[in-house]
Amino acid sequence: MPDALLAAPARDAGVAFVAAITTELVADIRRRHDLWPTASAAVGRLTTGAVLFGAGLKGNERISLQIAGSGPLQTLAADAWLLDAHTIGARGYAHNPQVDLPVDVRGKFDVAGAVGSGSLQVTRSSDVGQPYAGVVPLHSGEIGEDLALYLAQSEQIPSVVAVGVLANPDGIVAAGGLFARVLPGSDERTRIELEKRARSLPPVTTSIARGAGAEELMRDLAGDWKLGSMQSKSVKFACRCSREKVEAVLLGLGADELLELTRRPDGAQAVCEYCKRRYAFTPPQVAALRARL
Ligand SMILES: [Zn+2]
Repeated sequence: MPDALLAAPARDAGVAFVAAITTELVADIRRRHDLWPTASAAVGRLTTGAVLFGAGLKGNERISLQIAGSGPLQTLAADAWLLDAHTIGARGYAHNPQVDLPVDVRGKFDVAGAVGSGSLQVTRSSDVGQPYAGVVPLHSGEIGEDLALYLAQSEQIPSVVAVGVLANPDGIVAAGGLFARVLPGSDERTRIELEKRARSLPPVTTSIARGAGAEELMRDLAGDWKLGSMQSKSVKFACRCSREKVEAVLLGLGADELLELTRRPDGAQAVCEYCKRRYAFTPPQVAALRARL
């Protein structure tokens, strides 16, 4: 199944659904960062979470998820934004990509062990106005539960969030997620019923690996609740880095540091931590930048 993001409300039930297939996106990130298996699962889950939370983005809005954990992955980050009206772009990374822990007794990745304890920050921003950021302590470190807990605690939105990555030694087999939130005005019974339905489902990656698309994932969770009109988007890896942004970072080093860089035979080098693109500045290019100070 190609990567896709699908959103639909079940208004009579008072629940809004989002489903995503992110297999290609996570495979792309794994290749760029040479992520080891447990790190792939963690970064893939968080990036899928950013895609799911990004379903409601408009214009220049962005959603950024960041985990600061005590485990070997250290910092994890992912963000999502609209590339155009029909496409959502996303990216993610782990500070330490080379993490692989033994799978647990059920054969599942030990993402919680790789993440450890710490905090999850969710930031909503756009080109205008102040960003809105909320932080919660990590609950399980499994990421899906932590995203649901964030919504409950910081935004008072009852929800279920399931994100998953299935990988073998050759790479990513399946990745995707499901997100359903209880709409304002719905009662407690709706939340209880939603959680009951979510618990009865197989892992999302089991369904995706056998060929299910985003709509099937959504219908499995919605059951007999009637879904309204569906909005779909394509999903792809994208990055927000640019030579101009790297120049701004270099300028921030100050005149003395830049002078030092002009004396190095290969000038200045920078690598984007999200897409691994390399930016190089020759000594004369660094000198030209310094002249702008
Ligand atoms: Zn980049």
